[in-house]
Amino acid sequence: MLYPAGPSGSEISALQRPFDQECGLIDALPGSGLTSRLSQITAAPADRRTFLKAVTFPCLAACAAAWLHNSFVLPLEAAAAADDDSRFRVEARFYEKLPGKNVRCKLCPRGCVVGDRDRGHCRVRENRGGTYYSLVHSRVCAAHIDPIEKKPFFHFHPGVLAFSIATAGCNVNCKFCQNWEISQARPEELPATYLPPAAVAASARQNQCPAVAFTYSEPTVFNEFVTDAADAARAQGLKSVVVSNGFIQQEPLKKLCQHVDAIKVDLKSFSPSYYRDVVNGELQPVLDTLVTIHKQGRWNEIVYLVVPTLNDGDKEFRDLARWIKSNLGSEVPIHFTRFHPLYLLKNLPPTPVETLERAKAIADAEGLQYVYVGNVPGHPAENTYCPKCHRLIIERAGFTVAQMHMRKGKCEYCEHVIPGVWGA
Ligand code: SF4
Repeated sequence: MLYPAGPSGSEISALQRPFDQECGLIDALPGSGLTSRLSQITAAPADRRTFLKAVTFPCLAACAAAWLHNSFVLPLEAAAAADDDSRFRVEARFYEKLPGKNVRCKLCPRGCVVGDRDRGHCRVRENRGGTYYSLVHSRVCAAHIDPIEKKPFFHFHPGVLAFSIATAGCNVNCKFCQNWEISQARPEELPATYLPPAAVAASARQNQCPAVAFTYSEPTVFNEFVTDAADAARAQGLKSVVVSNGFIQQEPLKKLCQHVDAIKVDLKSFSPSYYRDVVNGELQPVLDTLVTIHKQGRWNEIVYLVVPTLNDGDKEFRDLARWIKSNLGSEVPIHFTRFHPLYLLKNLPPTPVETLERAKAIADAEGLQYVYVGNVPGHPAENTYCPKCHRLIIERAGFTVAQMHMRKGKCEYCEHVIPGVWGA
């Protein structure tokens, strides 16, 4: 039985095929002997020619490999019966026991109080006799090989492939969710495969992915699996990245930062009412998350999905840019990405490109240095320009890195330090 894998809400692109055509196969689990390309991206190049060979060609090869891996298909078992879940069940790491066999989850700001045999809002955590469990450890319902640019990360090992996985569940309910089939499902409603942490790392290596990405649904709700699999990946010399809505409590977030290498946060709006009405979440905890990631020194990029008429005002863009500059500094990359009508917001049009350009112009004017336009393949604002000499230093075509003019994390032309995790 097969189940389609696909991109997360911020990963829409005209280059992508529709969700129901995009399947992946873990066609060979551990042991093929293929070598991670991470060593290639961490080796310091001796000169420009060597550097371009070491970076640009692997980038292109990675994207070609990603394209070839469109035949990648995850073999999934039929949905398990509700109680036949012992392989996937681990005790939750962030909760407290309450009187009367109740529990309070302390993983995300929702703070669900859950009675015996009930589940939290995210549908993947259950109270059994006063002990709280995650039901989705190693329970992978989607897997795919993506370029890291698709997450998107633009300043984190450009051009590498990420072995990208998800379980069921999410702690919010975005009306525009691209992956609602998995994010809004109970785990037993979906086919899944058992992929424990060591197998995640081995599969990533086997498929020539220097990174593992936790994505598509919401990694906060499968936190235990994320941290265990990230540890296994690190032991194999692989990186781990998380694509999250940022709606997580501070204690699990600080722990998460110790296990993974980069976190991309979908900041869905700068308006509390949008978070309440469109996301069914809260803005302030997400802002707190961004500050904590920054203080913890994890690499962070921000995506802002611009939805016509709902979060596309000049004032909102300006307030957002000012907040980022004051609280995170001017160097955090922000991607203003294009909305496409989906799920419960099919009544709205795709975001006009001019709106994304207006958002970028406002953020640029407020002093943010790395402002991108997303989901518009070929747009010049998908490239990286040196903020000092203004030369093109990373040229992208869709999710492909076409050219890089950087050396050891610096602009090749003026040696300005470009923030990010470059590996060389
Ligand atoms: S992680 Fe799930 S169970 Fe825990 S508080 Fe959030 S929504 Fe509720």
